[in-house]
Amino acid sequence: MNKTILVVDDEQGYRDLLSMELSSQGYTALPAAGGADALKILEKEKVDLIITDMKMPKMDGLDVVIASRRLRPGIPIILMTGYAVEERVQEALGRKASVCLRKPFQLEELHTAIQTATA
Ligand SMILES: [Mg+2]
Repeated sequence: MNKTILVVDDEQGYRDLLSMELSSQGYTALPAAGGADALKILEKEKVDLIITDMKMPKMDGLDVVIASRRLRPGIPIILMTGYAVEERVQEALGRKASVCLRKPFQLEELHTAIQTATA
């Protein structure tokens, strides 16, 4: 079945790139510009997977992981990190964010991460 993926990134370029790529692969992509938007979407929509940037203003990726898990305890989460603070990344991974993608990444790595996270 066609999976719905919530794409959370404060950079529009990444949001657009990921959303276009995921749509072209048959996924339904729901873009969110930050944690607050992401949680609103998560409350309303049936989301199968979250891909979230780590470094964002207000809520960072760890905040998104914690809040998302409250709403949807088992949901797979892929973290994207660039220059994120390593301790925040490790704590997010400790909270069972499934996979960590280091920015910049190849689209092939994205697809491998999705396979791993949703397996
Ligand atoms: Mg960012």
